[in-house]
Order: sequence, then structure tokens, then C-alpha cells
Amino acid sequence: VLKYSPFVVSFHKHYYPWVQLSGHAGNFQAGEDGRILKRFCQCEQRSLELLMGDPLRPFVPTYYGMVQRDGQAFNQMEDLLADFEGPSIMDCKMGSRTYLEEELVKARERPKPRKDMYEKMVAVDPGAPTPEERAQGAVTKPRYMQWRETLSSTSTLGFRIEGIKKADGTCNTNFKKTQALEQVTKVLEDFVNGDLGILRKYVARLEDLRETLENSPFFKTHEVRVLDTNRSSHTRVVGSSLLFVHDHTGLAKVWMIDFGKTVALPDHQTLSHRLPWTEGNREDGYLWGLDNLICLLQGLTQS
Ligand code: ATP
Ligand code: MG
Ligand code: MG
Repeated sequence: VLKYSPFVVSFHKHYYPWVQLSGHAGNFQAGEDGRILKRFCQCEQRSLELLMGDPLRPFVPTYYGMVQRDGQAFNQMEDLLADFEGPSIMDCKMGSRTYLEEELVKARERPKPRKDMYEKMVAVDPGAPTPEERAQGAVTKPRYMQWRETLSSTSTLGFRIEGIKKADGTCNTNFKKTQALEQVTKVLEDFVNGDLGILRKYVARLEDLRETLENSPFFKTHEVRVLDTNRSSHTRVVGSSLLFVHDHTGLAKVWMIDFGKTVALPDHQTLSHRLPWTEGNREDGYLWGLDNLICLLQGLTQS
């Protein structure tokens, strides 16, 4: 049920199947040695370019610019799996909201009843639609997006697990209804097979990341120049993930990936990344989610 191995990649003449835990199957291709290509998105390019000059650089895949292949544009970036031997991989989507406010507004201005979304909703929870929605056999997109967030730990913990592939081959990308703290904790413990050494490395790396985020111009405090304008702006990070990778040699690292929806705010607004979201405040809950994730993993090292 998974498009997790869309192609084979190489690194220093060593060939291995690449793993993709989320997104459309056609979005990625093998790049040059140790690199991969992701379907081009200007927003992502801008974020990756800014990040190459930010303290966060060690926590994101190295960016090698835009390349064309068969008439299509791609962002070329470091393959984060290249240094690992038969890795276990986890994608955690960060933040208390995984869509942009603009998407909500747009969908609300032109409310289109969506039968496909109604069907997805009923498939998960037959009791979810209102009587009116049931009569229509359709829901609007904002309604669907907001309902979906309440199912997973996105709304309760500020992150959700998108997918896991373990070294033993087992794979799960169905965590859409994994919400309870105990459930999430179990999944995390199983991901590392209870290995304390790996857990401690993940916690240390995440603590480093948190400190770097708190001091990153890209992420919060200082000015980020966008294109050639002079305006002060700050970044909100929506739909972005942390990619966890470890292997049997004891190597364990975490990176930030997926900046397709990470945008600079065009005004003088700043974000705490910790306050709850209410429509209009643009808060993304990124650091709140990271605090919770660190706390859970720390708890596992002590149990
Ligand atoms: P979505 O928005 O649905 O999450 P997307 O098309 O924006 O998907 P990403 O989230 O960037 O794609 O990546 C999808 C998957 O590909 C990740 O879950 C991860 O497994 C893998 N991946 C992405 N970037 C890298 C990278 N630089 N190195 C290794 N694996 C990566
Ligand atoms: Mg993603
Ligand atoms: Mg994405």
C-alpha cells in the first residue's frame, strides 16, 4: 500500500532503494550521486536558499539548486539516507496546523461541495458528517481540512507521524487516527525498538535543533529578506516535517524537510511558534510540537 521505493539511488557506487514516506509517487527522482530531485516549487526553493545561509543549515538537506530533466524542473538536494546502512526512517509532520490560512479563505470564498472529501470522511468516521452534509453527500474543503486535523495528534500534540519504515522492512503510513499520547509513545518506542542509545541521540539532536530554531533568523527573531524587498518578515512553517533516520551502526540523525508551504510573512508580524492557533494569528505551533516530541522521547529514555 505504499509508494515507498520509487527508484534506486547511488552513493559512492553503492546502490540502494530510496524510500519515500509521503507525498505523490511522481514527485521524486534520483539525482546525481548522493542527491535526489524533488518536483520544483518556487516557495521551497526560496526557503532552501535562505536556509543555506542560516544557522539551521546543518538541520536541512543541502540544496544544490534547480535542475531540468525531460523538460521538467526539480529542486536538487542532498539524499539524507545516503550515509546510512539499511536505515529505519520516520516522517513527523510538525505543527498544530498543516494547511495555510489562505487555503481556508480561498476555499471559503468559493465553497465547492466536495463528494470525494465526504467519502473520505465517511470512510474514517461514518458519524462525522452533519445531517445537512449527509443530505448533500458532500462537504466543503475547509470543513474537511479542519475535521481531519482533529483526528490525529496534530491538534493535541503539535505533531503527527506521517509514516515509518523500519530496517526490518515493516512499514506504516496509516497514523491518521493515532492521537492518544500513549499510542504515539508506543509508536515512537517501537520505531527505535526501545534502543536507549538511539533515543538519546535523537533527543540530543532535537535539543540542538530547538536551540538553533530559537536563534534562527529564518525561523523567527531577525529579519528575513524576501526577494528584493526591504520588508521585515518572519517565517511560518506549515506542512514541514522532521525526518528521523537511524541504522544498526548506531548512527541517528534528524533533519527538517519539506518547505513547500513555508512562507515568509509580508508584514511586521512575529510568531512565537508556541501559541495556539486562532484564525488570523498565523501561529504554526512548530516549537510547541517540538517541545512535546522531545518530552515524549526523553520520557522513553527514562522508563
Ligand atoms: P507532502 O507535502 O505530502 O508531505 P511532498 O511531495 O512535499 O509531500 P516531502 O514531504 O518533501 O514531499 O517528502 C516526501 C518523503 O520523501 C519524505 O517523507 C521522506 O521519506 C522523503 N524525503 C524527502 N526529502 C528527502 C531527502 N532530502 N532525503 C531523503 N528522503 C527524503
Ligand atoms: Mg512532507
Ligand atoms: Mg509537502
